Amino acid sequence: MHKSLLPELKEKFAQVLEEGVFSGGEETRIFSEEVADFLNVPFIISCSNGTDALEMALKVLGVGFGDEVLVPALTWVSTAEAVVNVGAYPVFVDVAKDGLMEIKAIPKHVTSKTKAVIPVHLYGKMVDMESLSVMSTRFGLKVIEDAAQAFGAVLRGKSAGIWGDIGCFSFYPTKNLGALGEAGLMITNKEELAEKLNLLMNHGQEERDRHVVVGRNAKMDTLHAAMLRVKLRHFPEWQKRRKHLASIYSDRLAEIEGLDLPGDMQASHHNAHLFTVRTERRDELKAYLAKNGVGTAIHYPAILPHLVPFSSSSSDFPMALSISQTTLSLPLHPFLEESEVSEVCETILGFFARS
Ligand SMILES: *Cc1c(COP(=O)(O)O)cnc(C)c1O
Repeated sequence: MHKSLLPELKEKFAQVLEEGVFSGGEETRIFSEEVADFLNVPFIISCSNGTDALEMALKVLGVGFGDEVLVPALTWVSTAEAVVNVGAYPVFVDVAKDGLMEIKAIPKHVTSKTKAVIPVHLYGKMVDMESLSVMSTRFGLKVIEDAAQAFGAVLRGKSAGIWGDIGCFSFYPTKNLGALGEAGLMITNKEELAEKLNLLMNHGQEERDRHVVVGRNAKMDTLHAAMLRVKLRHFPEWQKRRKHLASIYSDRLAEIEGLDLPGDMQASHHNAHLFTVRTERRDELKAYLAKNGVGTAIHYPAILPHLVPFSSSSSDFPMALSISQTTLSLPLHPFLEESEVSEVCETILGFFARS
């Protein structure tokens, strides 16, 4: 990726170095405008990373001590970390077959303390936000979308992250749009929330030296904004390429018995972040692929309720548990060659033919 972008990135790097502004400044401002335009949303606040974004979203929505927040049992740890870090309790909800929060399971987890729900657009596929909104309205819950994996996903003409109260994105280097380091973003339709987020992430300053609330420092570095501007220009073509490579996997692997493929990979509400297959023989397949030079990953090997910091003795997450034991992410990024994807397919076909 960076080999092909090297001239553009170097030029931008030199320009930022020359200007000598490393916090805030024009690059950050223009990046915000360009992203707001790209996502077609009114208010965006760039920030330090996706985890901080989730924490700040919870804070400005008034979630705090003693409150409960619904979180899917299967997600990256940040979703629950943020809840604990504002003093609230994550209440885990099992997921459906596609790994996304089981919306119809929400009512049985709601108590008088439940304040918010965090749907996670896992693997890049958006939660059915229309059904989720029905639930959140029914129970009076705030909605924070964890769209860290879903930049570029659009459901019924609306971007991921803009369906709830606040949407949080991550530009961690391995996401579809990745910074050259840590960076994140919050989006909202509500001006009042945007103002609060802006204050919170910049020391509670309304203007220089005028501090009106206790804030923190969670700004995006100018260099990251500048590098992301370069990358954003290429993002649409990268997305096309991801989808194309995903379609090769979907076609070539379709007939294998005992291998489940991800759905909706070509839909606009999926940004093709990960291509996750499922098989009872996951560990064996992973080892076989590794032996044949194919790197894979597991998203995620443990469900959150079973991690030490959140440990819950409840075993009420059968689907999340099953996915954590059977899922495997195949290589997928815009710089793979078609021949490389074919080779991965051949190796997988070989594995299932052998036995
Ligand atoms: C990456 C990710 C985050 C956190 O983003 P960072 O920028 O790494 O802090 C949060 N939630 C999910 C689902 C993620 O994949």
